[in-house]
Parts: sequence; C-alpha cells; structure tokens
Amino acid sequence: MAVASTNSSRMTSGDRTGYGGSGEQERADAVRRALAGGAPSPRVAILGAGAGGLCMAIRLRQAGIDTFTIYEKSDGVGGTWRDNTYPGAACDVPSHLYSFSFASKNDWTRKFAEQPEILAYFESLVDRYDLGPHLRFGTEVTEAHYDDGAGTWTLQTTGDEPTVTADVVVSGLERTTYTVQEDKFVTYLNPAFQQGDVRVYEVP
Ligand SMILES: Cc1cc2nc3c(=O)[nH]c(=O)nc-3n(C[C@H](O)[C@H](O)[C@H](O)COP(=O)(O)OP(=O)(O)OC[C@H]3O[C@@H](n4cnc5c(N)ncnc54)[C@H](O)[C@@H]3O)c2cc1C
Repeated sequence: MAVASTNSSRMTSGDRTGYGGSGEQERADAVRRALAGGAPSPRVAILGAGAGGLCMAIRLRQAGIDTFTIYEKSDGVGGTWRDNTYPGAACDVPSHLYSFSFASKNDWTRKFAEQPEILAYFESLVDRYDLGPHLRFGTEVTEAHYDDGAGTWTLQTTGDEPTVTADVVVSGLERTTYTVQEDKFVTYLNPAFQQGDVRVYEVP
C-alpha cells in the first residue's frame, strides 16, 4: 500500500493553514485519515502546469497525496504567464489577490504586477512545494479515455511515457475547450480545429 507523504519541511505553517472556510480543512483531514487507514493513494494526472495545475498539485500535497504527476506540453511552468511576453503584459486585478491564499507574496513591486514578476512567482512555487519530481515537461496529453469497468483513465502523451494510467484526471487547460461525453466518460483531446490559441475538441 502506498501511503502518500508530504514534504512538509518545505512548507511554512502559513502554507498549511491556508485552507478556505468551505470545509477544505475537513476534507483534507478526511483524506489523511483514509490514507492512514490503508486506502490506496490515487494516481492523479494533472494536465498543464499553469496556475490551475500548480494549485491543484500543491493542494493535493497539502492533503497528504503526493501520487500526482503534472503533464506539461511546454518546457516550463506558468502557462499564460510564460507564453504572453508582450511589452506591458500585466494582470488586471491587484497582485495580492492574483496569487494563492496559501502562498502569499508580500513584496509585489507593483499593485498590478507585470508578466515577468508573475511568472517568477509561479516558478518559485516549484521549489517551495518540491514539485520538480512531479513535473513532466515536453509532454502533451493528446487523448484521455475512461474505462468504466476498471475505473481508471488511460492517457496518451507525447512524452517519455506514451501511455499513462491514472485514477483521477484534472484539467488545468484554461485555454483549451473540449467536450466530454458524460455518459461515456470519454474525452478526446485531439483538436478538431484551432482558433488562435484556443483549440476546440469534439467527441465523435
Ligand atoms: C495578459 C493576460 C492578463 C491576464 N490577467 C488576469 C487577471 O488579472 N486575473 C485573472 O484572473 N486572470 C487573468 N488572465 C487569465 C489567465 O490566463 C488565468 O488567470 C490563468 O493564468 C490561467 O491559468 P490556467 O492554469 O488555468 O491555464 P494556462 O495558464 O493556460 O495553463 C495551461 C497549461 O497547460 C499546458 N497545456 C495545454 N494543453 C496541454 C495538453 N494537452 N497537455 C499538456 N499540457 C497542456 C499549457 O502549455 C499551459 O502551460 C490573464 C491572461 C492574460 C493573457
């Protein structure tokens, strides 16, 4: 049985107390109890290493689950903030709000930080939460199929591990839209067509 462990030495007390007020702490405690009681730690595949994917990874770790892998098609984290480098690129909400409640940054140089500083913030989270071993860069997930009988997902990727089995798939693909045929739990990530940076996926 694989019991997940946290790399708590890298977390400050503030990191661990950053739960919201909607039962997050209780759910995390329930996960820890289940793992301690022998429940297998789920294999979680996170698609994308932008803000969404990083947030998911950190929250899983904080809940005691470190059996996750982040698949990222590019060669770095940050997503939007790695890809958009045009002069003046900046967030349009105050930076202290455009950062994770559990990983606050007190020294933003501007009220509305620009792209390099935001990217540096997201990159800093990799070491802060020891995400490096979980990241698979240069790995695009091209298909995801759910096997109802086995209760597992099979992913096809362009990386070193072309076929991946996961218990849970989390999409951190903000700029990708795709349809899911809910009754069959089949998701195809191969693009039907692409419009600029938005790819539209269709289920046959
Ligand atoms: C200039 C600009 C300013 C913005 N300002 C704000 C703001 O002030 N406030 C706000 O809330 N939002 C803002 N946004 C929106 C911003 O995009 C989101 O806030 C957030 O960064 C999206 O994060 P994400 O992780 O969901 O997606 P993304 O950042 O798009 O990350 C997705 C990641 O998935 C990877 N990926 C894609 N497809 C695959 C695949 N098939 N397999 C593997 N990896 C894949 C991509 O390479 C990327 O790294 C702004 C966006 C821009 C461009």
